[in-house]
Amino acid sequence: SGRSNPGGFLIEQRRLEKQPADLRVGAFTEITLKPTAAGGTAQASRCTDCGVPFCQNACPLQNNIPDWLALSADGDLREAWRVASATSTMPEICGRICPQDRLCEGACTLQQSGWDGVTIGSVEAWIADTAFDNGWVEPIRPLAERGQSVAIVGSGPAGLAAADRLRSEGYAVTVYDRHDRAGGLLTYGIPGFKLEKRIVQRRIDRLVEGGVEFVLNTNVGVDVTMDELRSRHDAVLLAMGVYQARTLGVPGRGPNDTVAALDFLIAQNRVDCGDAADASAPHAAGRDVVVVGGGDTAMDCVRTAIRQGANSVVCLYRRDRDNMPGSAREVQNAEEEGVRFEWLGAPKALMSKGDTVTAVRAQRMALTEASAGGRRDIAPVAGSDFDLPADLVIEALGFEPEAFAEQLDAGLGLTKWNTLQVARGGFATTLPGVFAAGDAVRGASLVVWAVRDGQDAAAEIDRYLRARTEEAAA
Ligand code: FAD
Ligand code: SF4
Repeated sequence: SGRSNPGGFLIEQRRLEKQPADLRVGAFTEITLKPTAAGGTAQASRCTDCGVPFCQNACPLQNNIPDWLALSADGDLREAWRVASATSTMPEICGRICPQDRLCEGACTLQQSGWDGVTIGSVEAWIADTAFDNGWVEPIRPLAERGQSVAIVGSGPAGLAAADRLRSEGYAVTVYDRHDRAGGLLTYGIPGFKLEKRIVQRRIDRLVEGGVEFVLNTNVGVDVTMDELRSRHDAVLLAMGVYQARTLGVPGRGPNDTVAALDFLIAQNRVDCGDAADASAPHAAGRDVVVVGGGDTAMDCVRTAIRQGANSVVCLYRRDRDNMPGSAREVQNAEEEGVRFEWLGAPKALMSKGDTVTAVRAQRMALTEASAGGRRDIAPVAGSDFDLPADLVIEALGFEPEAFAEQLDAGLGLTKWNTLQVARGGFATTLPGVFAAGDAVRGASLVVWAVRDGQDAAAEIDRYLRARTEEAAA
């Protein structure tokens, strides 16, 4: 960017202020306070413009971080927004929920050289929120209609990102989703205290206003077949995510003894979206809750349970804090809010009295010596059983793909992990004119990767449809 700011690191790093834990556990709203203009500018100006944008390389979207930080430091937020929105269709969402410590911020030169890194994510969200507040977010207005249409199956971040790019190119876009609301895990997975529903809704509204059609409550493969979609549209993008929840294989687990993490989260997210509470939905009020698992989903469950007024909340995870898949920042938030972590504890059995679960029997695990590959494994410690009292056990053990080929089309090639098979370096499935993106291809991943895939798949579909138009004209 040609600018140099060697003294930036002398400005103190300030993370966005969080509401005190005792206040935030009373609500499902975001826990951080919004930055002031002076605060946002000061944090942006901490970037020293080191000249080697490791941050940009570590961002799955290759966001032009040094440039929008410099523009924000100069107070030119409108131009910063133009740069930020050129590479990302959802900067305000990624800025909030990317695990920045493992991506852009972890790679920041300041962080790498022992100083506190630039708070890139919160500056990104601030730029985008300011753009929305000031009406700088342009509506989608294609230069010309192309006369071809694309079906997108799944309205999560991959589907929404692709819809944005394809509609902007002038394609008619129809997004199908089996849920009653669009947004995928942005709406029904990720809780409001990380990402408020209105932030997601504002993106969906913009797509609707730009002419994207949403066909909800429609399970593709059941309510409409793939053949129908392929004959109605010129191309199809499959962005269905992964939803087959793994379950606990322990003795004593009856069919109604546990609750699946997503069922628990969806019930609360529905209420946050404005639906009336469903008395038959799982709820943690007054209960002793054990959440099994150590990923993002587990963190969201424990923090939701606390907010619902649980009597106690324990997270049981078989590895230790340093080897958990979830974000360290979320563990800290959970601990502040009153969640207790049982690290190196693996479930062994469910204990019940009559029809009701009373405890999770667990055993202590220990880290073994590093193997040749360098990774330390875990092994149970003999005679180390202990019981965690519980009358609500939530399974947050991860997700596998559903049976895509069986559900949609037997011609869909799958990988050995049952994800959708795509051509190397691209998005084309084994069916002509059918593409795939997001978790359905990668397996459970991150929002920012889904956005990247959606955008890139849209570019590939655009090339494919242009080539078809040229063929037809020849
Ligand atoms: P999804 O968001 O899963 O969307 C798929 C959509 O397809 C859904 O709306 C579904 O209803 C629809 N669908 C599926 N099958 C059909 C069908 N047959 N017919 C019609 N519609 C169908 N990532 C982060 O980066 N940060 C986080 O903090 C974070 N927290 C998470 C918390 C939880 C609880 C979970 C479960 C995941 C979290 N993730 C997080 C991961 C992230 O949400 C996913 O990687 C991302 O949403 C994947 O996007 P996608 O568009 O591929 O799929
Ligand atoms: Fe960082 Fe995510 Fe934003 Fe990229 S999209 S700059 S990784 S917060």
